[in-house]
Amino acid sequence: MTGPPFPASLLPLAALVLLAGQTLQHCAGQSSADRPGVHSPPPQPASIGQVFGFRDFTEQSLWDQKFLAVPDAQLARQHLKALTSAPHWASSPEDYATAIYVAARFKAAGLQTEIVPYSVLMNKPTSILIEAFDAVGTKIFTGPTREHVEPAANGATDHFQDDPRILPGFNDSSPAADITAQVVYANYGRLADFQRLAALGVSVKGKIVLVRYGAEYRGVKVYIAQQYGAKGVLIYSDPSDDGPRDQQRYPAGPNRPDTAVQRGSVQFLPIYPGDPTTPGVASVPTLPASERIPVDKLQYDLPSIPANPLSSTDAAPILRALAGPAAPREWQGGLSFPYHLGSSTEPVSVHMRLAKDTGLRTIWDVIGKIPGTSDPNQWVIAGNHRDAWVYGAGDPGSGTAAMLEAVHGLGALLEQGWKPRRTIVIGSWDGEEEGMIGSTEWAEQQDTRQSRADHHAVAYFNIDVAVSGPVFNAAAVPSLRSFVRQIAAEVPSPAGGTVLQQWTKEEGEGVTRRSPRGADSLTTDGQSGDEPHLGDLGSGSDYTPFLQHNGVPSTDIGSDGPFSVYHSVFDNYDWFTRFADPDFAYTQQQARFFGLEILHMADADVLPFDYELYAQEIRGYLDQARGRSTNAGLKLDFTGAISAADHFIAGAHAIRASQLAPPKDTATLDRSLAAVEGALLLPDGLPHRPWYRHSIYAPGEFNGYEAVVIPGVNEAIDAANPTRAQAQIDALAQALSRATEALAVPIR
Ligand SMILES: [Zn+2]
Repeated sequence: MTGPPFPASLLPLAALVLLAGQTLQHCAGQSSADRPGVHSPPPQPASIGQVFGFRDFTEQSLWDQKFLAVPDAQLARQHLKALTSAPHWASSPEDYATAIYVAARFKAAGLQTEIVPYSVLMNKPTSILIEAFDAVGTKIFTGPTREHVEPAANGATDHFQDDPRILPGFNDSSPAADITAQVVYANYGRLADFQRLAALGVSVKGKIVLVRYGAEYRGVKVYIAQQYGAKGVLIYSDPSDDGPRDQQRYPAGPNRPDTAVQRGSVQFLPIYPGDPTTPGVASVPTLPASERIPVDKLQYDLPSIPANPLSSTDAAPILRALAGPAAPREWQGGLSFPYHLGSSTEPVSVHMRLAKDTGLRTIWDVIGKIPGTSDPNQWVIAGNHRDAWVYGAGDPGSGTAAMLEAVHGLGALLEQGWKPRRTIVIGSWDGEEEGMIGSTEWAEQQDTRQSRADHHAVAYFNIDVAVSGPVFNAAAVPSLRSFVRQIAAEVPSPAGGTVLQQWTKEEGEGVTRRSPRGADSLTTDGQSGDEPHLGDLGSGSDYTPFLQHNGVPSTDIGSDGPFSVYHSVFDNYDWFTRFADPDFAYTQQQARFFGLEILHMADADVLPFDYELYAQEIRGYLDQARGRSTNAGLKLDFTGAISAADHFIAGAHAIRASQLAPPKDTATLDRSLAAVEGALLLPDGLPHRPWYRHSIYAPGEFNGYEAVVIPGVNEAIDAANPTRAQAQIDALAQALSRATEALAVPIR
């Protein structure tokens, strides 16, 4: 996902100030818990009155204040500096070193800590060659060009770009290949773009398709190109998608320099994520080979055609040489010549030679636990990935730095005698960039019958790119939307006031336009008045296995700015400290936010899930789907599903009354509340992709990041398949009935 453009007025002024030469504050010998948070105003005593899920918030409010005082901007800076000191691609020795660093911080905070290895299929480039020839066979380009920038006029430079451990630009999950073919330009490589090319009479069969990054998950571009018979795919970064036009290119400004290339997985994540050889099964090191899908039979999850990314520097000579029909006007990007689609009589040819070392490699999750006192079998899980394509300062180092300062805060509370009601589990996931592997394998391991018998995950809180700028964003299942807004009302913003106030203000000004990785649903999300909007969870980060495979209510938070250096060498400490968060005030904010999510869920008297809103949302999705099916001329019977949704609304309304006045013993009530999201799972999963079991949210098969709501139903309507659509409506009705039954238990 590339960062969206943001107005320059929203960038912190300090972004223009170089931090070169600034010395870090060292705190050896000083207990960091004693040091107050810096750079943002001290938290105000809470005056937030009653909080849903708590009988009386007074005592919790005191713990919240103690917690909010701990996450420290200077320590976050030190974490980020340590974590990004070397390229740390998953499974590398440098990646293992980051696991040791994180484990040490967990232990220091008093967490029961273990490093959990998995043995997973990985794909490492050994050499990448891309060359292009014009119609008479003259070589017009050989690459890839090394990612490199010269010092800027103001003296700003990059200290990280020449490390020999940097892997070349590549798309993980692409097969090795040695192919030559003619080139066709296909805009963003969306389904609509391929349909447009076909309508224009341009065939991509047997061709190498050149597409630009953006608009959808890159693996979907390859998925569609393959279905259209393409021989290979080149995915380049077009300057028109590099961020605010009034911002300069790095190192003078935050925008992607011309040589920077976006790495990334092209696994078919909307089919299933994780280790491609073990869908639904944990890739523990002892797993026998006979229980893995053989590498030559992975065609449902991995592309069979090669793909590789290119910088705009390297795409330019190919695009410039393309002849044939002019590209449609909106397909023109930001390079300074007219784009063409490619000609078969005057063809440009590309030779792609991708050598890969593909095999099982070890990755390492770090898991830290704080056992709960009264409800130890209820697990509150929170996580962030640790592996990076290169240095990963924004993605995911800012998330790890924030998570470590949240853990620091939890440790300080433990020292003061605090004990959570529920068990807290913190996950530092590995192999996310290759396809959310570490989180998926761990979540699959928790989904066995034995694990389910001894614990139950009640919520999952995700953070990934915690900070690439100052604009707060969140996505959540509907049952946790007011929970997230409540926390936003408690956390101070470096820009003044609370996160909720800034978030509301920015949304009013039209700045916040999206969820971190999801898309906005068509419905209102139960906003009242000027409350800010939360997006739906699609995919693209580690909440996917928890929500969409295991049925655990989830949230995801971020703080965004221009981030077109995403997945390149330049997402490093130099870039981050100049342009994303120079004084780490937003990283501190995110640490506080993430920590309060954990704290509230772990300590609540009764689980704070708002199922009334959730049920109303689902009722809205059904109304929309019914309208879409009518427009599509499909005759479908929604009566049973709508009646089931109405019963769910009534059941949710009733249980909300119990949540507002909880009984003395909340165990039964909690068990019911915790069972609802799991009841929404489809026993057979979604058509064509059974790993995805959630009946309400999935990543779109033809988008990959954005959420499709009631996906079984809506995708069958899109496919104009009434038989499948009716079966999915009926399966959804059954899921809603199970959810209503789960809610009904304490009322009987
Ligand atoms: Zn990430």
